[in-house]
Amino acid sequence: LSGDDIDGATILVRALKQQGVEYMFGIVGVPVIEVGMAAQAEGIKFVSMRNEQAASYAASAIGYLTRKPAVCLVVSGPGLVHALAGMANAMENCWPLIVVGGSCDASQEAMGGFQAYPQVEAARQYSKFSARPSSLENIPYYVEKAVRESTYGRPGACYIDISGDMVGAKAKESSVRFMPACPSPPLTYADPSKIIEAIDLITQAEKPLLIIGKGASYAQAEGPLATLVDSTGLPFLPTPMGKGLLPDTHPQCVAAARSRALQEADVIVLLGARLNWMLHFGAPPRFHPEAKIIQVDIKMEEMGNNVAPAVALVGDIKAVVSQINEELQKRKNVFKFSLQSAWWKTLSKKLEANQLNVQEMCNDKTVPLNYYAAYAEVQRAIPQDCMIVNEGSNTMDIGRTMLPNILPRQRLDAGTFGTMGVGLGFALAAAIYYRDHMPKRRVVCVEGDSAFGFSGMEIETMARYRLPVIIVVFNNNGISMGIQDEMWNMAEENGDLLLNAPPTSLQPNTRYEKMMEAFGGEGYFCRTAEEIRNSLKAALQSNKPTVINIMINPMAQRKTQEYALSYSDGSSTGD
Ligand code: ADP
Repeated sequence: LSGDDIDGATILVRALKQQGVEYMFGIVGVPVIEVGMAAQAEGIKFVSMRNEQAASYAASAIGYLTRKPAVCLVVSGPGLVHALAGMANAMENCWPLIVVGGSCDASQEAMGGFQAYPQVEAARQYSKFSARPSSLENIPYYVEKAVRESTYGRPGACYIDISGDMVGAKAKESSVRFMPACPSPPLTYADPSKIIEAIDLITQAEKPLLIIGKGASYAQAEGPLATLVDSTGLPFLPTPMGKGLLPDTHPQCVAAARSRALQEADVIVLLGARLNWMLHFGAPPRFHPEAKIIQVDIKMEEMGNNVAPAVALVGDIKAVVSQINEELQKRKNVFKFSLQSAWWKTLSKKLEANQLNVQEMCNDKTVPLNYYAAYAEVQRAIPQDCMIVNEGSNTMDIGRTMLPNILPRQRLDAGTFGTMGVGLGFALAAAIYYRDHMPKRRVVCVEGDSAFGFSGMEIETMARYRLPVIIVVFNNNGISMGIQDEMWNMAEENGDLLLNAPPTSLQPNTRYEKMMEAFGGEGYFCRTAEEIRNSLKAALQSNKPTVINIMINPMAQRKTQEYALSYSDGSSTGD
């Protein structure tokens, strides 16, 4: 480059850097190799991954944890198509993400050029904003817009396209105007008169309940929420990724009495959670038919989805909960929901009964272990401040109740979209984020054997970057339902496995831990509680990535419940 010339790749990454982007995940190839290199030259950390799907999941996890988008960089055509998975997942989870896709030279687009594909159009359906900058000089405007669109209002994914010819094209540096960094979203407060209505409802309720969703986690509303919960004595129920915003061990957490709490509550304050399948559409028999909903959400269009709210509070959760706290304090009679109330007695009874039920399963140490017994060991061994990544069917359903979260944003799972295969990308992103910002914290990723398989190759990425992630595989030889050795052998003896092996089965007793050993990490194979204990102890002392492969009884299931939130049957109707 001559003195004052600047190329497209450099303009793009400099603009991203100036917008505060710290991380870029991706896979380079024609035409974005230069973009990856330019990113590093500008000081953006580049994480080179093995599949764009995992890269897009990883980037979106950074968005959730930091409220700032990370970038996923992909090549043209198939590269972008793979990353659409992460865009869809980010949109469904309401997480910020920017995907940058290289594309075929503009001049060859209609001629069957290499990997030519209508990328801007394809990405549009998976994003809030999808465009190709109209010129090199315009790139910074598009970048700023992508950052703003991805983080303002309801967060989501954005796509920026850069054609191969733009990557290398040059402009006069003086002709490029870089935009100032887009500020974090302006706080929006709810209508004060509606706050008063909401408080009147809460204070008159007989069976009030707060539901804390991952919108509240994203909003980082833990401070005002702790004040609200502690000052009022109200029971609260976290959704899976709302867990930890207040500790799961908090005496007012009624997660272990989830079904009862939802079924009987008469006034529900819904804080950053949608009444979608995960909350059974807010409908009977899972919710009380007369339940009044106080809905708090950043997105006005979400108000009234499935259930007309008694009070609609549109605004940022952190801001709105602070408004509620202030208004409560102004009142003459300090409101405190009585622990002696019939409602608390009902909930406490249910909490105790359910906890006893689980305890029985934990105590059953028969080999091969059941899920609860294995989880009891994991739970005892892992540090309270670690990130828990969790996916699989039974593995995730049971993990949600067996692994308490004590701190906010320390759980990443299949989320609203129920996406299996997100775990390794999430774990990798969390490990990098911790390495740079909270170096004492560890990442523990508990995966079903099927879930692990989707992006298993990312363990090489973890080993390459020396990220001490602990991956625990709950291995039941299958997808949701496992298969026993004898059954598998019988299927094989009976003829063609393609006709006989149950579609839910995976090869029995697969030694996943040896994969990690192959990359220089550590591997443990466990059958007993003691082996789990010892391997986790060793993994926590080591600074290498580790796979702990735990054999689970293929016939083991979740404890029977009248109603439950279950990913394994994709149902909202219970099991
Ligand atoms: P969960 O999976 O925990 O039930 P959802 O993903 O269904 O939660 O819902 C999250 C909700 O939070 C979305 O409707 C989204 O619009 C909302 N949201 C996201 N960020 C904020 C924020 N800062 N303030 C208020 N609501 C938010």
